[in-house]
Amino acid sequence: MKSVLLHLSIKTIVKIKAIKKLSMVSSIKVSNEGLAIHNENSKILLDPSKIHNDNFVFVSHAHSDHIYKKPKNKTKVKTLVSKETELIANARGYEISNPIYEEKNLELIDTGHILGSKGLLAFNEVYYTGDISIRKRGFMIHQNKIPKVDKLIIESTFGKPEFIFPDPKEIVHETNQIISDAYEKGIPVIIMGYSLGKAQLLVDLFRHWDPFYVSDSIENINTIYRKMKIPLRDLITYSEAEKNYCLSKKPWIMLSSLMTGRSKFLQSLKEKYNAITIGFSGWACNPGYRYMMGLDYAMPLSDHCDYNELLEVVENSNPKKVYTIHGFSEDFARTLRDLGYEAEPITNGHKKKETTKSQKNNKNANLKKIKKNPILDSFFG
Ligand SMILES: [Zn+2]
Repeated sequence: MKSVLLHLSIKTIVKIKAIKKLSMVSSIKVSNEGLAIHNENSKILLDPSKIHNDNFVFVSHAHSDHIYKKPKNKTKVKTLVSKETELIANARGYEISNPIYEEKNLELIDTGHILGSKGLLAFNEVYYTGDISIRKRGFMIHQNKIPKVDKLIIESTFGKPEFIFPDPKEIVHETNQIISDAYEKGIPVIIMGYSLGKAQLLVDLFRHWDPFYVSDSIENINTIYRKMKIPLRDLITYSEAEKNYCLSKKPWIMLSSLMTGRSKFLQSLKEKYNAITIGFSGWACNPGYRYMMGLDYAMPLSDHCDYNELLEVVENSNPKKVYTIHGFSEDFARTLRDLGYEAEPITNGHKKKETTKSQKNNKNANLKKIKKNPILDSFFG
């Protein structure tokens, strides 16, 4: 009898422990506050667009679609963020509330997307990648640390097989050839990428060309990068070059934010100086991109993972459940399910509904989105 009772009580203890362990397990929730990791003691909002008074928030990097608007009043919100992201965000007119750079059970992991970009490993159970790139480009060296977790929240901007990027070395070689041919004919070249992240890479990759001018807004960000020990060369700003009549002395190279060839600024440079344009974006894998943007050349250089690299991240993380977010989240989740993973697409604000077949067939939907939202940094990929 005694041994039966003992057996029962051990069983009960084991059961209680199992329940307790289960209640500690983190869950992923989406509400009108945004995407969050919950467990019984805490809630962490991931890259929310708005904050409320008592939130605990993680900001992965300083691109506009990952960072909250400056709150109107002082808040008690705590923001887990890297020092680089805090500096860049504040310089761009955002305001990081009560920044903290470390927190127990939460680890920030370099994601190689832009300077200061981090993923969040929470409680050794959940990894949120934010935007991620696992390839070496210029001064961006990713440590390739992908934690093994139960739940992976992965960006899926380029989560379709047609988005496989060439080696960045090939892109640099091809671009140098275009610039060299143009210089021989005395033709100026305007190179373009989004202003935070891609533009600084382009300064680094094409630093040997002279004279090298840069738009004033990009130079402001370059200054922040230099403060953070990224050795970008000094460049002459567009306004200085124009004031001193430098642009009429051709050829030259100029770095500008990515815009369509139909913009007034580019039109005037093309008419006045006969300049050619080269845009850099992962979307350039789509042959229609160059025409849609009205560019002379489009190069598939991205700060995101391509399709194969996204699969590599999932494989290395070996999760029980994958949540896909941004870009081709539905397609990528479907691919993962076909490979045997449990996978579900989500958005920042609500669970994503699967699209209909006709919507699915609209290959250019994301490109159209870019055209409509030219200010969204990451859409320029
Ligand atoms: Zn980004």
